[in-house]
Amino acid sequence: MSQSSIEWTEMTWNPTTGCDKVSAGCKFCYAEVMSSRLKAMGVDKYKDEFKVRIHESELRRPYSWKKSKVVFVNSMSDLFHKDVPIEFIQKVFKVMKENPQHVFQVLTKRADILRYYDSEGLLNWSHNIWMGVSVESQKVEHRIDNLRATNARVKFLSCEPLIGPLPKLNLKGIDWVIVGGESGRKPRPMKPEWVTNIKDQCLDADVAFFFKQWGGTNKKKAGRQLEGQTWDGMPSIANEF
Ligand code: SF4
Repeated sequence: MSQSSIEWTEMTWNPTTGCDKVSAGCKFCYAEVMSSRLKAMGVDKYKDEFKVRIHESELRRPYSWKKSKVVFVNSMSDLFHKDVPIEFIQKVFKVMKENPQHVFQVLTKRADILRYYDSEGLLNWSHNIWMGVSVESQKVEHRIDNLRATNARVKFLSCEPLIGPLPKLNLKGIDWVIVGGESGRKPRPMKPEWVTNIKDQCLDADVAFFFKQWGGTNKKKAGRQLEGQTWDGMPSIANEF
């Protein structure tokens, strides 16, 4: 586990590492770049660079954290990648359930696999497991339907990097929406009207809205204000922790 600079979480925990690209949102995958760096530094966990690997030893970690944490699960992978055995996913879920003092945020682009496992009754949910799907453009909005069909107690969308408008989001059953622009050397632009439109849809539907960043080539300078303010909405269940 390590401290995270991601604005909507506190820590990251990676019981699996590695992945491969599935949609346009993956184009400049941070995890891929970072895995390559960590391999070059000789970090054992990344010796196969971006190949999917499971790490049984990581399963013990959450039991040892003293204070309550908000934890982003698998910042360096996708828990629902086809190469992660369901038995291992179930072990991760067991760890999360047995540590109700922490919030675990799981984010996937493989919403079809998530839905399938859930429909088969293979996932044992608890209130502290927040399940999210990435929605970078209208092309992948079907992921929201897959998420909605699951029994996850808290459901969220990560619209980052937002690379197109999402004017007709179906937010039924959704608790939280995060929006962010792409950063790096050649970021794809995010139009302000796309962001304000999503924010307005969230306000209308009474869904918590979090604006992470504008992104761009100078992420720090571009900042994270929208219409003169920061938007740090979190699901109301967050108040219970
Ligand atoms: S799903 Fe996530 S971790 Fe996997 S390649 Fe795409 S952006 Fe990277």
